[in-house]
Amino acid sequence: MLPYAGIILLIGPSNSGKSTLLKQLVDTGQVLSSEIISSDEYRVRVSDVEFIDWSHRWKDVSESLYDEYQRISAEAFSLMEATIEARCRLNKITFVDATHLYPDDRKRYIELAKKHHVAVMSLVLDVDEEVLLSRDKNRINPRGKKRIKQQYQVFKREKRFIKKEGYSATYFITDTDEVEVTRANSNP
Ligand code: ATP
Repeated sequence: MLPYAGIILLIGPSNSGKSTLLKQLVDTGQVLSSEIISSDEYRVRVSDVEFIDWSHRWKDVSESLYDEYQRISAEAFSLMEATIEARCRLNKITFVDATHLYPDDRKRYIELAKKHHVAVMSLVLDVDEEVLLSRDKNRINPRGKKRIKQQYQVFKREKRFIKKEGYSATYFITDTDEVEVTRANSNP
């Protein structure tokens, strides 16, 4: 059951299927596309940079390119946060599509929800490392083996802490085909 208003955090490494799940929910009319905020989309919005292909360039990524990416990400996240805050003030639901692998990435949204007196829920995409790696090979813009493995290690470590972080509900999802959402019709 989704809260009437609030933040729904997607959590999971690259290729765990966060964007695919959200698209499926939009396509089946369960979620509005305007209810989704994605870090990838906001990076493009602020910088016109579609995607930096780390998999081929990881070894020779220059410091300036890396710094540029960090600056783009910082601007993207700041704009995302402003949008989420506006939606919280209007009592809307917002799905946040990013990996949220590190505690600080999640904490900022838990605090944001508290500040605006709305709920915060987490949807954890729990997918095995082999599946993540095999999906990466078939992806148009692969994230690269090294990055996926590193993300998976962080995810494995963090998984046990997520439940205790203070969400109104946490769902661990292993099969995205099974996911259906129910919406609260009124403000409790
Ligand atoms: P990122 O964090 O890098 O944006 P993500 O978790 O949002 O990744 P998606 O963009 O949804 O992942 O999917 C990445 C790749 O994995 C895509 O090629 C997609 O088709 C494939 N994929 C996602 N979910 C599934 C699934 N349930 N079954 C098979 N392939 C999937």
